[in-house]
Amino acid sequence: MRSSVVAIVGRPNVGKSTIFNRLVGERISIVEDIPGVTRDRIYAKAEWLNTTFRLIDTGGIEIGDEPLLIQMREQAEVAIREADVIIFLANGREGITAADEEVAKILYKSNKPIVLAINKVDNPEMREQIYEFYALGFGEPHPISGTHGLGLGDLLDSVVNQFPERENVPVDEDVIHFSVIGRPNVGKSSLVNTIVNEDRVIVSDIAGTTRDAIDTSFSKDDRDFVIIDTAGMRKRGKIYETTEKYSILRALKAIERSDVVLTLIDAETGIIEQDKKIAGYAHEAGRAVVIVVNKWDTIKQHDKAIKEFEDNVRAHFQFLDYAPIVYLSAETKKRVHTLLPKVVQASENHTKRVETNVLNDVIMDALAINPAPSKHGKKLKVLYATQVAVKPPTFVVFVNDPDLMHFSYQRFLENQIREAFGFEGTPIKIYARKRS
Ligand code: GDP
Ligand code: GDP
Repeated sequence: MRSSVVAIVGRPNVGKSTIFNRLVGERISIVEDIPGVTRDRIYAKAEWLNTTFRLIDTGGIEIGDEPLLIQMREQAEVAIREADVIIFLANGREGITAADEEVAKILYKSNKPIVLAINKVDNPEMREQIYEFYALGFGEPHPISGTHGLGLGDLLDSVVNQFPERENVPVDEDVIHFSVIGRPNVGKSSLVNTIVNEDRVIVSDIAGTTRDAIDTSFSKDDRDFVIIDTAGMRKRGKIYETTEKYSILRALKAIERSDVVLTLIDAETGIIEQDKKIAGYAHEAGRAVVIVVNKWDTIKQHDKAIKEFEDNVRAHFQFLDYAPIVYLSAETKKRVHTLLPKVVQASENHTKRVETNVLNDVIMDALAINPAPSKHGKKLKVLYATQVAVKPPTFVVFVNDPDLMHFSYQRFLENQIREAFGFEGTPIKIYARKRS
């Protein structure tokens, strides 16, 4: 089921990022240190009373050198477009300002539920000051203090109460959900169009899951697929849609709903930092990944063209060493037919389960090739392993002392598992647990 999205809007300095960090808490932890991937703290998972939702700090979407007023308007537009519920934040120490009224004007036009929160109400004596905010016309103002963590529970109760009812549509496990991500102009929309117009593709449904996300269902060779709409693939032109943060936000929303993520690279312009960053999000989310090198028609073809490009991709995307690479041209349609088989394969590996006894044979063979390491005279003992989850395949290795499981040894075990079972296209996770 898709989780609800909450956006925080308000003029600068009212405390949006303070509240965002409070609500998200310690949960954004950097699990893996991926070179080149920095985390943009504008979109994160939060939880309140067993309800998880996604939170957007619209203040983090900076819109070039536009004047403040335009920035605020555009940020409010992002909230209206992306969120199910909007937290409108004002500053209790300053009262209603002209800038608050500007934001309010845009929010009036939305039909999304709005919860008004008055920040910097750091002590009970200040509560008197919230009444003037009724004048904004969004009902009861909720006094809160980001720095002291006050009033946040009541605020979240109101927010969660306004989440839209969701039908619990069972997800058909046989349908492969995928999305196409990449920086602007790599050819995302061209590729999507080419895929759905390909030979023997039967498009069954173009459904708006929300007002602005347009998913396309289709089948090919008896397999069912859904392409999830990403970053401004259909609509264009608004200022915020051309900003990097916004395109990342859209990519993250698409990744969340995908089984397989196609990460696009433009062969003509080559790989830049932004490509790595975007691909890093798919990896971190544990999705299956296929790297697609588009605009292959622009590369002078020779014997070593693919080999040269592959070396380049591998050097830049070391964290995606499991992802297959497909070279194609969305425009000339050359080699596009090679793509879906890779998507299917990546998806099958993403959901693959291996038998415990076969897994343990592989682990025992691995131990024989490369004996477990010791630390301070204590030797790691590997007892047995089992697969505990799919999407992505996740393994628990029971050991005498998890501290003795060195990163490089874990990496070695991962490679042995990959060699034995062929998990091309999917990340796999391995956890060491204590069992004496
Ligand atoms: P944003 O621009 O809306 O994201 O605002 P920030 O979160 O960056 O906060 C702006 C300033 O207000 C910072 O100096 C914060 O420390 C301060 N601030 C945030 N929340 C509170 C609060 O509850 N009480 C007080 N007194 N200051 C706060
Ligand atoms: P998006 O912003 O990622 O959705 O990119 P578009 O699909 O709008 O494509 C951006 C530009 O690249 C357009 O001018 C396309 O015509 C061009 N383009 C897309 N795919 C190819 C390709 O395979 N070869 C060439 N030469 N140009 C392409």
